[in-house]
Amino acid sequence: MKKSLDRERLKRAAERLRKPCAEFLRDLCRIPATSNQEGPVVARIKKEMTKVGFDEIRVDKYGNILGRIGKGPRVIACDSHIDTVGVGDPAEWKWDPFRGKYENGVIWARGSSDQRGGMAAMVYAGKLIKDLKLAADCTIWMVGSICEEDSDGIAWLYILKEKVISPEIVIVTEPTNLKIYRGHRGRMEIKVRIPGRSCHGSAPERGDNPITKAAPFLLEIERLNKRLRPHPFLGKGTVCATQIREDGPSQCAVPGAVTVHLDRRLAPGETKNSALREVREALKRAGISKAKVWVPIYREPSWRNTVYPMEQYYPGWCLDADHSLVRISKETYRGVFGRKPIVDKWIFSTNATTITGICGVPAIGFGAGNEDNAHSVKEHMPVDHLVKAMQFYAAFPTVYSQAGGLDKADRRYRA
Ligand SMILES: [Zn+2]
Repeated sequence: MKKSLDRERLKRAAERLRKPCAEFLRDLCRIPATSNQEGPVVARIKKEMTKVGFDEIRVDKYGNILGRIGKGPRVIACDSHIDTVGVGDPAEWKWDPFRGKYENGVIWARGSSDQRGGMAAMVYAGKLIKDLKLAADCTIWMVGSICEEDSDGIAWLYILKEKVISPEIVIVTEPTNLKIYRGHRGRMEIKVRIPGRSCHGSAPERGDNPITKAAPFLLEIERLNKRLRPHPFLGKGTVCATQIREDGPSQCAVPGAVTVHLDRRLAPGETKNSALREVREALKRAGISKAKVWVPIYREPSWRNTVYPMEQYYPGWCLDADHSLVRISKETYRGVFGRKPIVDKWIFSTNATTITGICGVPAIGFGAGNEDNAHSVKEHMPVDHLVKAMQFYAAFPTVYSQAGGLDKADRRYRA
């Protein structure tokens, strides 16, 4: 990518793929698939990968689809999750959310930006890499991951822990509006069960009311939220109570226990242990000695009927501004588009929570479409973005291997 001639050649080749890539995305959007229903989408992606000439296509036991281009020693992956959120109330849509509409170079449909656009661009980037014989010393895996909307990162926890593939880095193609993103906050769910003693509601003095006991604890959680310190780039973690359930025989009885559900957003550096410790301290301050605190586990079977239990802990992560993966991504951008990129962060969470936050494999974000309209009835994807993302993904491996990969100190991410 050092010569501008290459840039022009890449651009021309990508332009030729504009139409089939857009058609592929429209086709993907026609297949409804919320988390754990992705089988038919996997089949459709397999068909397209076969058509454009991928070297190998695998569907792992969890249900992710992985397409390979090349067989060089440097292993790189691009990720796109292929499930979508539901459509909500169909009456709120001005068009069929699955058939969508295609107007003035923009595709409007559920999943168009979050995140089948990423998949369409990746498949056609694979074709570009093959056609233009780019990155001979790289193995490039284009991964369609499942279940992200239900449990972000579970698919990649499976891929990396079960060693389906072991890439040096992962490009996460969630929408970034064609900016380079180097991190996002994380999140976790926490349950707190506060025991009491049940008795007849007509004589509460016989029991020990856990609802009343929970009150000072809930106020301590508010105080904890105010104490959390901001991260300089990603902002502040938060904690709040989102649900309280009593465990009792009737509304005419003091319940035997209550369970409080806490939603915790995590800044980088805030870990599962530090977050749990804070909750235990809040209990202590509230004078509650016997309570159980735990992280619930995600156990839904995938479309392949595989259960891969995962604690609902999705840590935040953030690469330093001068991390070699950020540097190489910026070089790729300059090489492809001839100008300086914007480097920023996601507001939402992505699969990089496990890729980088748990497994320590550096990730970087670059995606078509805008995060702002994800999950909304205005979800859309400009086809121009697909063509540009395609060029970035196709050029990246060459720039990466010319740079000699990551600097040694950057190869494992440490929070
Ligand atoms: Zn989403």
